[in-house]
Amino acid sequence: MKSILTSPKYFVPLFLILLVYGCSKVPLTGRRQIRLMPESTLIQASSLSYQHVLDTAKIVKTGAQAEMVKRVGARIAAAVEKYLKENGFQSRIAGFNWQFNLIQDDNVNAWCMSGGKVAFYTGIMPICKDETGVAVVMGHEIAHAIARHGNERVSQSIVLQGLSTGIDFALLMKEEPETTRQILNTAFGVGGQVGMLAFSRKHESESDEMGLLFMAMAGYDPSEAPKFWDRMNNIGGQRPPVMLSTHPDPGKRQADLQAQLPKAMEIYNQNKR
Ligand SMILES: [Zn+2]
Repeated sequence: MKSILTSPKYFVPLFLILLVYGCSKVPLTGRRQIRLMPESTLIQASSLSYQHVLDTAKIVKTGAQAEMVKRVGARIAAAVEKYLKENGFQSRIAGFNWQFNLIQDDNVNAWCMSGGKVAFYTGIMPICKDETGVAVVMGHEIAHAIARHGNERVSQSIVLQGLSTGIDFALLMKEEPETTRQILNTAFGVGGQVGMLAFSRKHESESDEMGLLFMAMAGYDPSEAPKFWDRMNNIGGQRPPVMLSTHPDPGKRQADLQAQLPKAMEIYNQNKR
């Protein structure tokens, strides 16, 4: 069987893309990642897709919960931006324009698109329980965006569909907005279903780890994170929440969080309010 990399159809474009964009390192975890498209293209597409969600979903505009989502989002985003700027990762937030919205939807879900477009569904609020619980989810979702997991997923999707470059994706955005939205929705976990690009465990673990540190930087107690994921696991019902889809082993997640907690507690103790 021929590898996709050596098939003539893909060889030249992939080679050129790798040459142009090379690989980069994820902040905090140091994982090497190969980006296949410019993040700016994805931020532009995400912005349009997010606006479409805002136009079609029921946004909770007032009240304690909506305010809490905005407050926690702004506080973690500020701490994350400060950390990235101080540590030479400012390119990770280039073109970001943060937005934090609460959507009336019973699904237990939250997500963050490229460029800092965050949505919480009302269905996840009882599991969050309080502001620190919201911070656990917020840190995790913002981590997905900073780590550019969406870019990895969309790039994968583009290759699978036989489109070769980010230029094709930009064209697709203009010519087939619905297809583009579907690719993005799948990549970012919008809605309640798991698509073909189910969140990989690697991405989830990485977001757990980064999210723990992000919430601590913003002065939220990270020892609440293992408790939140415990509550998520205990929801039960016939359909597990989409956020748990690739974590079939809650024990491993708990063990990982416990192992990462001392470092996060140290950061928290310096940033406690
Ligand atoms: Zn996640």
